[in-house]
Amino acid sequence: MGAVRMDEKMLNKELMAKVSRKFYGHTNLYSKYTPKIPEGAEREYIRMVNEYTGILKEELEAEFPTLKEIYKRERDAEVQGRREDSATDFLLAVIGIFNRIRNKVAARCLSFGLKKRLLNLALINRRMTTKEWEKVIRTSLGIDIRKDYYLGDFYLDQLAKWVSENVDLITSIPENTLDKMKDIVLDGFNRGRRTTDIAKDIQLAYGVSRKKARFIARDQTAKLNGQIQRAQQMDAGITEYIWSDCGDERVRRSHRRLNGQKFSWEGEGPETDNGRHCHPGQDFNCRCIGRPVFNRNTLNLPVKEDGGIKVTIK
Ligand SMILES: [Zn+2]
Repeated sequence: MGAVRMDEKMLNKELMAKVSRKFYGHTNLYSKYTPKIPEGAEREYIRMVNEYTGILKEELEAEFPTLKEIYKRERDAEVQGRREDSATDFLLAVIGIFNRIRNKVAARCLSFGLKKRLLNLALINRRMTTKEWEKVIRTSLGIDIRKDYYLGDFYLDQLAKWVSENVDLITSIPENTLDKMKDIVLDGFNRGRRTTDIAKDIQLAYGVSRKKARFIARDQTAKLNGQIQRAQQMDAGITEYIWSDCGDERVRRSHRRLNGQKFSWEGEGPETDNGRHCHPGQDFNCRCIGRPVFNRNTLNLPVKEDGGIKVTIK
């Protein structure tokens, strides 16, 4: 008991001396390194959603010849005025076909293991974000942190919440797209459009859904990254950050305005657009990063050399 306390004390002293030098007598130390968005996790996510939306494409293509045939038959009947019920027959047939596609897509999506894959993506994201965090600490303070501290149950509830939100976001894509496609077909029939034109619009709707899925992948990767960073920094006693945009032309003006300014991790963050408040990575498609500002008086890091003791530097 006494020995442990002794070790801890000595370690504290040693660390304090080591880290204090980096502050050059100041209270604050701005991180020398700006962590990066985990692009590997983003790529993996995009690959996964491409595969997922591909299921919709396959099932749609399988039913399209039938759809075309019924369309031609009922359209001809409608034009020639042979039957009164052709439009109704067409409507019912289309609803049947789209229900069939929907059920097949749903069944295949179930065996896709979306939740498991998303959890895996969340873990990859956390691992990469932690690697960047380690780099921040090493380059700024000259010490190594205990990575295992962040790779265990560290904010696992946060990851779980992200997973369930992302399951909803991704599964809604084929559902909404199929609704849109059904409308295109029915509207096309009423207006007497050619099947080739309808097919083109269906293709376009599919393209939109792929784009939307990729947008979600990028947006959600940055969001999770931002959440983990905030949690890691606040847990380490860091209360402030420098807003850092990624510097390319896609950065929105309201975020560029914040670039280089210091904000608090507490609360909901600075105002970005029209009364909206956020921290880096929280806004739609935001790739900004919070570069930590270390405070000598509050710093509290899980340090590698301590063999399991969380050391507070005071
Ligand atoms: Zn941004």
